[in-house]
Amino acid sequence: MSFKGRTALVTGGARGIGRCIADALVDAGARVHVFDVGDDPRAAFSFRRVDVSDAAQVRAGIAALPPATSLLVNNAGIARDRSLLKMSDAEWSEVLDVNLSGAFYVLREVAGLMARARHGRIVNISSINALRGKFGQANYTAAKAGLVGLTKTAARELGPKGITVNAVAPGMVMTELTRSLPAEAVGAARDQAVLGRLAEAGDVAHAVLFLLSDAARSITGEVLRVDGGQYLHA
Ligand code: NAD
Repeated sequence: MSFKGRTALVTGGARGIGRCIADALVDAGARVHVFDVGDDPRAAFSFRRVDVSDAAQVRAGIAALPPATSLLVNNAGIARDRSLLKMSDAEWSEVLDVNLSGAFYVLREVAGLMARARHGRIVNISSINALRGKFGQANYTAAKAGLVGLTKTAARELGPKGITVNAVAPGMVMTELTRSLPAEAVGAARDQAVLGRLAEAGDVAHAVLFLLSDAARSITGEVLRVDGGQYLHA
């Protein structure tokens, strides 16, 4: 897949799955911009410190992007796991603010650029836990399920403007986000994977690049699971 001449924005691209997507897009010839609250990884893409949960920061960050930005990956995300009865207001709203509102702020601004160019591809990173629920993740699953609704509505509204909007729902992928999980939780996820192994960040990146490519020009409003078959088992 070649993305020569295309400009992409990847949120949360400083590390983990987002970094893998940003690197893959660079390798495929795209000019890539990353918004993240972490440290600049000094990679082959341009980096800007933007907190996606802050609409004003997002607006300023996007105003500084080339107007030809036609690929967006809403990947920035956090988890603050706790069982429902013990979850604080802050744990609830922080996760909704970053994972759902953040994606909305970025999508709204970038879709304006894409609509003017009459071309765009948007991929939102959800989770299989949005589709099946997960103990201890009321905030995270609500946010990630919200992303599925946002994806489908955006697909309807933006389709006539030449923009596709899809979601990728990974299963467990070993990154900084999941490394602190107890070994039993990782083992249980591996047991659920009918392929006998967890998906890796590169597997998620491949699915994202497909949905960003011209090969996926007739796919919109879709949710693509990349989970080694974990969801099938659940
Ligand atoms: P990660 O923690 O390694 O990376 C997340 C990145 O997002 C980090 O670079 C972080 O600095 C950035 N970020 C966090 N808050 C931000 C904010 N407010 N503004 C801008 N950037 C912010 O996590 P990951 O595992 O690579 O996850 C990437 C995405 O994939 C997330 O949306 C996550 O929910 C989703 N996901 C991960 C898994 C998994 O098992 N790792 C499974 C399903 C979905």
